[in-house]
This record gives sequence, C-alpha cells and structure tokens, in this order.
Amino acid sequence: MIQSLTPRQITDIVQGQLLGPSEDALISMVSIDSRNILQPDSTLFVALKGAKFDGHTFVPSLLDLGVSCFLVKNDFPDAASMSHRASFILVDNTHAALHQLAAYQRSLFKNPLVGITGSNGKTIVKEWLGQVLGRKFPVAKSPKSYNSQVGVPLSVFGIHATDKAAIMEAGISKQGEMSKLEAILKPEIGIFTNIGTAHEEGFPSMEEKLKEKALLFDHSKFVICRKEHAAIHQHLLDKLGEERLIVWSDDVGCDYTLTVRKDPDHAKILLMRPDLSIFTFSVPFLDEASLENIRHVIVASLTLGLEPTDIQEGISHLKAVEMRLTLKPGINDCLLIDDTYNNDLAGLRLALDFMSAQRPKDRKVVILSDMLQVGKPQEVYQKIAELLQYHRVDFLVAVGQHIRQALSHFQGESRHFADTKSLVAGISELNFENDLILITGAREFRFEQIVDRLQQRIHGTTLEINLNALTHNYNFYKSKILPHTKIMVMVKAFAYGGGAAEIANHLQQMGADYLAVAYTDEGVALREAGIKLPIMVLNPVQESFIHLQQFHLEPVVYSLDFFKQLGKYCRHQGTDMHIHLDFDTGMHRLGFEMEHLQDLKTLIIDFPELRIASMYTHLVGADEEAHHDFSIRQLEDFLKMCSTLESALGYRPLRHALNSAGIVRYPEYQMDMVRLGIGLYGVEVSGLYEGHLKPISSLKTTVSQVKHLKAGETIGYSRKGKMEQDGQIATIAIGYADGYDRRFSNGRGFVLIHGHHAPVIGNVCMDMTMLDVTGLEVREGDEVLIYGPGISLKELAERIGTIPYELLTNISSRVKRVYYLD
Ligand SMILES: *Cc1c(COP(=O)(O)O)cnc(C)c1O
Repeated sequence: MIQSLTPRQITDIVQGQLLGPSEDALISMVSIDSRNILQPDSTLFVALKGAKFDGHTFVPSLLDLGVSCFLVKNDFPDAASMSHRASFILVDNTHAALHQLAAYQRSLFKNPLVGITGSNGKTIVKEWLGQVLGRKFPVAKSPKSYNSQVGVPLSVFGIHATDKAAIMEAGISKQGEMSKLEAILKPEIGIFTNIGTAHEEGFPSMEEKLKEKALLFDHSKFVICRKEHAAIHQHLLDKLGEERLIVWSDDVGCDYTLTVRKDPDHAKILLMRPDLSIFTFSVPFLDEASLENIRHVIVASLTLGLEPTDIQEGISHLKAVEMRLTLKPGINDCLLIDDTYNNDLAGLRLALDFMSAQRPKDRKVVILSDMLQVGKPQEVYQKIAELLQYHRVDFLVAVGQHIRQALSHFQGESRHFADTKSLVAGISELNFENDLILITGAREFRFEQIVDRLQQRIHGTTLEINLNALTHNYNFYKSKILPHTKIMVMVKAFAYGGGAAEIANHLQQMGADYLAVAYTDEGVALREAGIKLPIMVLNPVQESFIHLQQFHLEPVVYSLDFFKQLGKYCRHQGTDMHIHLDFDTGMHRLGFEMEHLQDLKTLIIDFPELRIASMYTHLVGADEEAHHDFSIRQLEDFLKMCSTLESALGYRPLRHALNSAGIVRYPEYQMDMVRLGIGLYGVEVSGLYEGHLKPISSLKTTVSQVKHLKAGETIGYSRKGKMEQDGQIATIAIGYADGYDRRFSNGRGFVLIHGHHAPVIGNVCMDMTMLDVTGLEVREGDEVLIYGPGISLKELAERIGTIPYELLTNISSRVKRVYYLD
C-alpha cells in the first residue's frame, strides 16, 4: 500500500462503524484470502461473501492467528464480542468498502497509471509493457490476470510509493462493472487492445460491450487504440475527441505508423512518428496477435517518454509470458507444478497458493532460481524464505548465486546448486518420490530442462484440463439454484474421463458438498488421494462392504435384499453407515418402486444402523422438451414416495432428483441437492444455455510424419482412403486404443491443425490416424487438436451417432492428463 492506515482512518474512508481499538495497529496490507496472510498484525482482512464461500467464517481462526483488523458486514453477529481482541469495521457491503479503500490508495499515487482493457491481449500487453518499462524504473503491475471486481482493488494495494508507473488491467463480464473499476483506477493513459465479435454472455450486443469497456477511459488524458479496429476507433473518437486519442495504424496518416515486415524467424516493425522521424524495431515473433500486442506496448512506452532505443532494449529481453500454472505427472509418483519463467514475488505467491491447494504428497518441494527483479535483494530473499516457511515447504532446492541468501532464513531442509547444469547432473541424488514439486525460475536458468527430467514420459497424446473452465461451469450451475441447495458432483467413470483425483480435489476447494462415483474402488482411490468430501457409491456390491466401512463411503441401496445384507453386516461389525436410497420412477435401471416401500419401512426400523442420508430418483429425459410430461410425473411420484417413507423415519433425509439438464430445465424441483454431471465438464445437453459453458478439456496429439502422395494412391488398412489428387497426408499419434473412435474413419472425423480443418482419411488404426492435409502447411511435431475450444464435442458425437458422454469417457487411461489454470 502507498500509505499505511490506522483502523480509525480506514473506518472514515469506508464510512463504517468501528468497534474495538482504533489506533493501535498500522495496516499496510489487505487480504481477502485466509490462506495467505504473512504479517497478521499489519493486515486488514476483508470478509467477502461469494457464491462458493463466505469470508466471515474464517474470522475466528484469523483472530487466533493474530490478525488485528477486520472489515465485516454490519450484521456479522460476533463483532462486538470479539472486538476486545481486534478492530472490527462494520459496513453495509464489504465489496463496496474494498473498492472505496482501493480508490483512496489510488488517489495517493501521483505517477502515471496505465489502464488496459479489451477482449484479448490485456494480460500480455500489461506484462510486456511492465517488462519494457521495468528496465528503466520500478513499475507496479497487477499480478497475472487480476482484472476483476476483486482483482483490481487487490492490484492497487500492490502499488508502492516508489513506483514510477502502474499498469493495471480491467476485465468485465457484464454491464455495470466497468464504471466501478473506473472509479478505482482512473487511468491517466488507456489502452484499448481490441474487441472480439463473438457474442459474450452478459452483453446484449457488441456495441454495448464496446461502450461498457470504454467507460474505463472516462477521465483518461490519452487513450491508445489501433485504427484498424474501426468500431473502437470511432467510438473513442465520438466519446473523447481527437486530442485525447493516440491512434496507430499499419498505414500512414495516424499519430504513429507501425508497419510490419516479416523475415523467416523474426519481424521488423517500422515506426514513423508524427515528426516523421523513423525507427526500426526487431521483434522475436511473427504471429498477428503478438505483433498487435507489441505495437500497443511500443506506443504506450513512447507516450510514457521512453526512447525507441530503450524500448528496443526492453523488447530484446522480453520473456515469454507463461500464463499457465500447469500440473504434470512426474516420475516416481511425483506431481509437478510447472511455473518456469515466472520470476517475481507476486508470481511465486500465486504458485505457492496453487501448490497448497493440491492434494497432499509426502513432501512439498520448491525448486527456485535467483530472482532477477528490481528491489533490495536482501529484503526480497528474506521475503521468499518467509513465504516458503508460511506455505510449509519441506525442501528448498536453490539454484544460482544470489538465492543463497534465502537459505539462511529458511528453516526447512535445503540444497544449493550453482547453476541449472549441476542440478540436472545431481537430480537423481535428491531422491524425489511421491513429492509435490514446484519448479519456478528466471528464464535465463532454463528450468524447462528440469521439468523435462522430472516429467513422466508422456506419449504424443495428452488431455489438457482447464481448471478455471471447470470453476466457471460449476459457478454457472450454482447460479441456477438457490444458495443453500447442495451440489453433489458426479465424478464417476474417472470424472467423465477428466481424471478423478485432481478434479475431485478442485471441487473440494470450490466447496462442493458431495461426490458420487459408480463403484467402491473409485471411491477408495479418491480417499487414498486425500479427498475428504462425503462420497456416494452408486453401484456397490456385497464384496465391498468392508471397503465402504473402512473408507467412509456411502453406498446407494436399491433393493430390500441388499438393505438387509448391509444391515446385517453393520450390526455384526457394530458400526453405523450412511446410505442413500434410489427410487425408480421410470428409469427402470435400479431402485425401489412404490410397492416396496412398506417392506422398506419395516427394514429401516429393524436396522437403525443404516442412517438414510438421502433419497433420490433419476430423470430419464430431462434434456429433451419432448419428455416434459414424463419428467414432471417422475418428479411428482418421487415426492410422494419420499413422504410415504419419511412418516416412518422420524428424521428428514436430503432429497434430490436433478441432473445437469434437470437443473436448468426444472429448477423448481431442486429440493435439497442437485447432481451435477456432464455440464460441469462443459457440455450443455439440454440446449437451453448453449454457449454459457466452457469446454474444460482439450485432447491434443502431434504429427508423427507428413507424406506426399500422388493421385490414386491409397491410405491405411483395407485401402479405404484414396487420394483424389496429388497432395499430402499427416499421420498423428492417436488411434482407437486411445479412445479416438473408429467411426471417425474416412472423413467422418476431422481435427484442427493451426486452426485449419483436416479430415481423417482412411480407417482409424489402433494407435495412429491419417489426415488429409493437402494445401496446409504442416510439419512433423506440430500440435493437433482432436477436440476442445473450436471443435465441439456435441458436433463430433453427432457425426458418429453417439453422445458426448461416450466420447468423454472413452479416452484411454494411457492418455496423460495435464491440469492448468489460465
Ligand atoms: C450420471 C448421473 C447423474 C449426472 O447426469 P448428467 O446428465 O451427467 O448431469 C446424475 N444422477 C445419477 C444417478 C447419475 O448416474
């Protein structure tokens, strides 16, 4: 923060009511996350209420930790009784107060603040601009993509009085949000990167979206935009007038002309300034997106007074902005967090948070290089040691000359290596086994070599799971039900192919209430991976009773006979068990029918050992309007069955009936809990909310070989594929044994290579498939997208007459799963 504040001063700024000490503490940090508080006595904890959590629940434990000041909602009941231990500032709305406090801190910053918005490229432009300016003077920038209603205020608290500029990005997802961010940021200089034409949820039209985003610049002195984005240019011109715009273009006639010349491995950008002076930049990329982003950076740097030679110097040292924290399977059952190229404290903090959210392994290991950033090294390394300590890192592997300084402050086990080469040479002596290993270092250290050494050999095909998309989909369904309705997530069949343990762990973090698996051994595997949530087992068998008991799994009971057997088992063992009752209202798969209920009542009374945790039924056609009447009949029958049984129980189990399609179609029947399945994995089967979910998985493989063939030559088994004309084919490393359905043979299936359509030619083989890539530029080793963003699972499934469920769950376990946050 720019200025430390007493609780009294904060109270005045947010116009709250103060209970407890008013002057004792001096607050210099703000946190909304109970897990990353480093200096409790100078931290203000802001209790936010979200869809998945309520910050107020953490107050008692943070009080014990020594946090000295809390910002809470004025109906927080314990504030008065706790106020002898810490200051409590009471407000109507803690979100709004967080914004007020950020706006206040912002107003104290007198150097330029650059605000960036747009559909794409915000984060890259911010990172690159930060790197270019950062070579000349200290700059504050928002960490990663902190651009939301919460991320922006937190970013502002990261600005220091010594920073010579601040660069902040602002992102919005619906109308009304930008003016709130503007009120905080009030950027002197704006950058409007570009605008996507895709319809975005939350905006009625492209024009509205554009107008809303431009609100960020209401008080800006100058706004930078590209003339080729005509809609943006025109809107800003109308809104702000010519004097406040700085426009660049490929062509002459604007404030800056920036023309691109491409060479085989780099590009030249010719700058012509208003005074007609000329400069040529050399940049290390060729793709259009990067070339646009870097030109925004050049213009912003010029506006901030940098000389072209300084800008070129900065560009030559640009690090690739690696946005992803990736989780990869490692050797000897290790799990790797690949964060190579992230080399600042803010990044390290995020990576350590991510690490703490993973399921536990034997040791927490961090492999870390020198940190090459501005600031006092001594302080930086002490901070690093504190962070590692705080996150209970067991073993630090330090690489480089300077990071040595951190070792003396770090109390855990540690090893030091002079450089990456000696670490790679000595890596086997470190005996990594079943460890969780974070690898993060400056680009110069080339830590990708370490990842390469520790990574489990994966064959060409991987399934990438985007955990942020999973969160998005979860929150979408959460928004369709009442806040207190519980969510059971179906993670049967390896979480619909996505990988049960990691997904279950992520759901546990997000606050899901229940999990469900098909078989007992799936539940056992989740428990062994450290999952603590209650787990329902859909299809238990008698042989597995002992495992149900040992691992606290909750079986579904669907027949009188099974009830009796399980009851007897529990009595014999002297144990209780939570069970779930399946009522058959039309599926005719498993379950009790109306006529069984009398006998079931008797059994329930006979075996009090079996505690009914819930009763449910399953809809057979919730995805289709055509079955509406049938669905309603099922739901009503179910409710009748519930009341019949409850009369004998003396307590009220949870009731639930809705699957993903049911949640969106029949929310009035949500009852106590819903059972979320395919929707979480990104497929909206009911068709009612097409476009509202994000695909969570991308199946990718690589090109093994490219061949040139003459017209008439045939391809693959049974000579099914045939070249109609001279052309080329590519063989890719995926076949039906990986789960690439053989029905995709002979043009039924297609993939994307560099965004281009390539149809399957000939029959799909066991481990390989051939594509017709005539006319495309394709090389060995190129990445191939089988499905993911750009290829809808629904469409693929339709092409071969099946359903997305089958495609998802067919992916073989030999395909490695990789998880990331973007
Ligand atoms: C699989 C399953 C679900 C989830 O269904 P989706 O269509 O994937 O949402 C819900 N309930 C039961 C009993 C299931 O077996």
